[in-house]
Amino acid sequence: MTFSCKNYDYNEDQCLKLKVDCVPGRPGCVLEGKVKVSEDLAQRLKELEDKAAARKKRG
Ligand code: SF4
Repeated sequence: MTFSCKNYDYNEDQCLKLKVDCVPGRPGCVLEGKVKVSEDLAQRLKELEDKAAARKKRG
């Protein structure tokens, strides 16, 4: 299955909406909570959440 998102910037290879790497389903993504993700993608999302939590802790 292929996927295309209107928010994906092919020139910059990142999400135009979030200004970060495209990880479908990540927090703030238009697909958040709307799709079932693969185990690999779920792992990447978990890593993003962990990084965000660590940043919050540091203040
Ligand atoms: S992170 Fe989500 S909203 Fe952004 S380009 Fe990727 S799929 Fe689209």
